Amino acid sequence: MQYDVIVIGSGPGGYVAAIRCAQLGLKTACIEKYSTFGGTCLNVGCIPSKALLDSSEHFYNASHTFKTHGISLDNLKVDFEQMIKRKSEVVAQTTGGISFLFKKNKITSYQGMGSFIDKNTIKITKTDGTEETISGKNVIIATGSKPSNLPFLPIDKKRIITSTEALTLKEVPKHLILIGGGVIGLELGSVYARLGAKVSVIEYMDSIIPTMDKSLGKELQKVLAKQGMEFYLGHKVTGASVKGTNVTVTFDTPKGEKKELKGDYCLVAVGRVAYTDKLDLENIGLTVEERGRKITVDEHLETSVKGVYAIGDVVRGAMLAHKAEDEGTFVAEIIAGQKPHINYNLIPGVVYTWPEVASVGYTEEQLKEKGVKFKLGVFPFKASGRARASMDTDGFVKVLADEATDEILGVHMIGPRAADMIAEAVVAMEYRASAEDISRMSHAHPTYTEAIREACLDATAKRAIHI
Ligand SMILES: Cc1cc2nc3c(=O)[nH]c(=O)nc-3n(C[C@H](O)[C@H](O)[C@H](O)COP(=O)(O)OP(=O)(O)OC[C@H]3O[C@@H](n4cnc5c(N)ncnc54)[C@H](O)[C@@H]3O)c2cc1C
Repeated sequence: MQYDVIVIGSGPGGYVAAIRCAQLGLKTACIEKYSTFGGTCLNVGCIPSKALLDSSEHFYNASHTFKTHGISLDNLKVDFEQMIKRKSEVVAQTTGGISFLFKKNKITSYQGMGSFIDKNTIKITKTDGTEETISGKNVIIATGSKPSNLPFLPIDKKRIITSTEALTLKEVPKHLILIGGGVIGLELGSVYARLGAKVSVIEYMDSIIPTMDKSLGKELQKVLAKQGMEFYLGHKVTGASVKGTNVTVTFDTPKGEKKELKGDYCLVAVGRVAYTDKLDLENIGLTVEERGRKITVDEHLETSVKGVYAIGDVVRGAMLAHKAEDEGTFVAEIIAGQKPHINYNLIPGVVYTWPEVASVGYTEEQLKEKGVKFKLGVFPFKASGRARASMDTDGFVKVLADEATDEILGVHMIGPRAADMIAEAVVAMEYRASAEDISRMSHAHPTYTEAIREACLDATAKRAIHI
């Protein structure tokens, strides 16, 4: 065998798996069909979206809050071309970093489309049509996902677009019609709303971010509406058409009335499906699940074919970069004969709107459904001195703790820097801390993290100090 491990795909699942394999002394190759490493996350996902979120947040603050801070600016305007250029530079630096790490760890990289000839032999088809074959004792499939579409709504990638095109537009839309009130749509909708676009969100479910604790969706909708976004919840999109630069989206209201919205762009953000095209899985006897097109794996992330593993968006579970990374490390350690562990219940979920939304553990709805008795503690940011100082008083921290043992079962927050703050909850819950444990630990003052302690005090004994 040429390699101990061949990784197909270089997203956060694949590149982390490759690096960890190499660290463990395994001779490793990684195949990537695109010319840059990093997958969806680094090229058209987490990193570029956060770069645009940061830029648009600066503009929003400059035009909305600076005056109150005592800072006046004249002739404030957006240089959108520069904003997109900076985003592309951040992407280039980050993907370049993976090339560096591959060299440092002596990982052999191949550019081309990987496909199975048999379970140990992978054909690489390069862009010029030439082919090369490599063999490995183990293969890790880390081919990720692509945007889902609606069968009745063709995406032309110009006016009816996915998240990928939304990251490289040439102009700020005047009216962006967003189909889907999930994480990806709301983040990109926020970018354009902050830059002055009218953003209308049409969502089939009766709340936005419907998989998170219901209280978060409610509060986020309230705040985003204040920022100018409009919401059509419980509405069912039935079609879209393009005429010149205009898009018309038709939909049914909850009462069954037919309505339409006209805009200049329509972003379809209705989730993602696993990507297994051209892998020739049938050559090794693997099929994909009917729903979501995912590859089935066991608790070791091994497929039904011995020595063939799959990780990240292409397998069950949350479609998140850090979940893919955790699985990359996990599978490398399994192949090396170690006994790693992933606690899937403690993978945090984050929405990078402003305020940010972050969540870990069980939601209130899940605990009720499971019949678990719990105590609830809430602390609003309007009672936080730090949040008042930075003018970020929207949102709250909500802590759910077991009624009998006080163990923290879920933490859900919407507020400033929630994406970073959720780490405290993850650590606490990984060590099975009680709400009282957190409330007895010193939290620097003034920080946003004090809100977590206060919510824990509220959950433990209704004795928050500042409310
Ligand atoms: C706009 C957007 C924003 C997001 N923001 C966040 C965020 O903030 N935080 C977060 O946690 N997640 C975020 N995500 C989700 C995150 O990007 C994915 O969960 C993550 O990238 C999955 O990693 P992966 O390694 O499984 O697959 P991917 O990152 O999809 O990588 C798969 C790679 O495999 C390659 N490939 C596929 N087939 C083959 C083949 N046959 N041969 C060779 N190469 C192949 C692909 O070209 C790709 O490079 C976001 C996604 C989007 C679209």
